[in-house]
Amino acid sequence: MICDNITAKDGILHFAGQNTVELAKKYGTPLYLLDEDKIREKCRIYKNAFKKYFGDNAKPLYASKANCFKRIYEIMREENMGIDVVSSGEIYVALKAGYDLSNAYFHSNNKTDEDIAYAMENGIGCFVADNIEEVKAVEAEAARRGITQRLSLRLTPGIDPHTYEAIATGKVDSKFGTPIETGQADEIVEFTLKQEHILLEGYHCHVGSQVFGEDIFERAAEVMLEFSAKMRDKLGFTAKTIDLGGGYGVRYVEEDPEFDIEEKVGQVAEAVKAACAKFGLEVPEIHMEPGRSIVADAGMTLYTAGTVKIIPGYKNYVSVDGGMPDNPRFALYGSSYTCLPANKMDEKRDFECSVVGRCCESGDIIQEHVMMPSSIGRYDIIAVCTTGAYNYSMASNYNKLPRPPIVMLRGGNEDYVAVKRETLEDMARNDV
Ligand SMILES: *Cc1c(COP(=O)(O)O)cnc(C)c1O
Repeated sequence: MICDNITAKDGILHFAGQNTVELAKKYGTPLYLLDEDKIREKCRIYKNAFKKYFGDNAKPLYASKANCFKRIYEIMREENMGIDVVSSGEIYVALKAGYDLSNAYFHSNNKTDEDIAYAMENGIGCFVADNIEEVKAVEAEAARRGITQRLSLRLTPGIDPHTYEAIATGKVDSKFGTPIETGQADEIVEFTLKQEHILLEGYHCHVGSQVFGEDIFERAAEVMLEFSAKMRDKLGFTAKTIDLGGGYGVRYVEEDPEFDIEEKVGQVAEAVKAACAKFGLEVPEIHMEPGRSIVADAGMTLYTAGTVKIIPGYKNYVSVDGGMPDNPRFALYGSSYTCLPANKMDEKRDFECSVVGRCCESGDIIQEHVMMPSSIGRYDIIAVCTTGAYNYSMASNYNKLPRPPIVMLRGGNEDYVAVKRETLEDMARNDV
């Protein structure tokens, strides 16, 4: 199986040690499951690897846009993880969970004045300014409040991670960050250092997502440290922190490689140390912001199958009771997923089909070229693996489908609701 929390017993799919068919019966479908133990395990792998290779100062931050709801911020608080937030909405939910915002970094490429004020009001630790406009806006709000605000700068190191175009963010022409190559990064550093109410902390970059690749993070580290040395020489400013972003890949299908987080952190640390030696820098405080790799394989979605459509000589479809509203990733990026017949794990899978959603939209596909048992049909349970990242957080109510609940699993036998299923009433909640 693609992750060690997925097993089959007596023909039934188990997730985090629990019977998925029973869970589907108990909570209904569509249903998001999240393996709490797996999330905590991943946090600890990151934390321990950071401590081992970078020392006590370095820290991993959970990029909470990957999956954002109250309970997950409580878990991050308990695991002592820093967080990334990208909107007032995420800040609000984190506060609801009692998360101490001084450990939060505020990203996004277009923070409104209201976002900036709300974040400062609630004691955000650090802004990550995307561009000079944001530096100006943060300075203005900090001046109004008479405070000194920590801030770091998002730069684009000019690296193409060769993943999907839509999730490559480190190239010069990206909508994110201020490019190093064009000289604009020099200008923004010089400008920021002149601001009276901003304490410039360091630099940030994020090259993309679902990156397995070779030496992307190592190259980013070298570019960022070279830039840091250049600013030291030119402006007398040495970055205290360097954030190398998120983006570590996870396995969605058997063909995806295994990604060893600890080993990778070790390799990046070597590159950081080598670059520091080369440019005569002390090793700065290193941050990274994993999102997907913390939550993706902690997630699974359960659906009930409905219509099976066989178009002889063309194509076969198995429809499920959810679709792009709860998982838009195939529609957005053509993402791969592993689909399993949860109540028929022992049957031979010799029926090729597309697993599709129930929306009025032909792009509403969960996955194509899926192998299912030929007996698959109405009332069977179909599981989609690795849905813990960018599913719930991207979910919509398209076709007025209520969003599924999130049920958390832990200890091999406990299950509890962390987010309730939306009701039909919710579908008209804001209508006046
Ligand atoms: C989305 C994002 C992340 C997390 O990326 P993953 O691929 O989920 O690890 C980290 N940092 C920034 C700035 C992001 O936008």
